[in-house]
Amino acid sequence: MPELPEVETTCRGISPHITGKTINNVIIRQNQLRWPIPDHFATAITGLTIHKVSRRAKYILLQTQQSDTIILHLGMSGSLRITSKDTLPGKHDHVDLVFSDQTVLRYNDTRRFGAILLTTEPLETHKLISQLGPEPLSEQFTGDYLYQRSTDKKSTIKSFIMDGHNVVGVGNIYASESLFMAGIHPARQAGRISSKRYQRLAESIKIVLQRSIDQGGTTLRDFVNEQGKPGYFQQSLSVYGRLNEPCIHCKAPIKQLKIAQRASYFCTRCQH
Ligand SMILES: [Zn+2]
Repeated sequence: MPELPEVETTCRGISPHITGKTINNVIIRQNQLRWPIPDHFATAITGLTIHKVSRRAKYILLQTQQSDTIILHLGMSGSLRITSKDTLPGKHDHVDLVFSDQTVLRYNDTRRFGAILLTTEPLETHKLISQLGPEPLSEQFTGDYLYQRSTDKKSTIKSFIMDGHNVVGVGNIYASESLFMAGIHPARQAGRISSKRYQRLAESIKIVLQRSIDQGGTTLRDFVNEQGKPGYFQQSLSVYGRLNEPCIHCKAPIKQLKIAQRASYFCTRCQH
């Protein structure tokens, strides 16, 4: 599943190829995504010029010079790539935005849990965006913020940091990795963690995500690769998926626990 680092890399990958360009044509081969692509979508965006490519949580935002914003979500298996009109679409290439210079932004999605929407509303008040917590890599996201926010919270710390109302983009793998780095047991109650430990956790989340984004930087050229499509990153993982393997710090076997139906990996000696 594309996580925040893949989405960030996607934005960086497509931005230089489409910013400032005008949409000339829209080809929809399959409109049944997580929500159907609106009927007026193709007509509404033809003629619009991309002003800015940005991201909020895992939503890719194509802001146009007009008041419209195209909102894209990659769902479970979606990807975007830059290609040309001459490249024949593959089986799951559902949507093409064709620009006036013949550049094509092509949306591929095997499982079709992604979404392509259009809004003229200010993004801050859009229903998918307005309730989201801060971006983990922003200055707004700090240990103090997490500490304040966690007051009286009875949920586990892992569920707490995976809840997009508290902070966006901390997926299952990143939650396990960050908690390991911060030395916090994933099942600890969120409301019972000191401010000092929250400082470490906020820093760990930033480091883990930034590292992954940096790794993704090496795949940027894949966005214009005719052969493949942008892959999901190979993580170098310290704890996730390493059940019974020795902890990289203390050599104790890594344990696994299900928290809110998601596999959590941790070291009983290093995390408490
Ligand atoms: Zn350990």
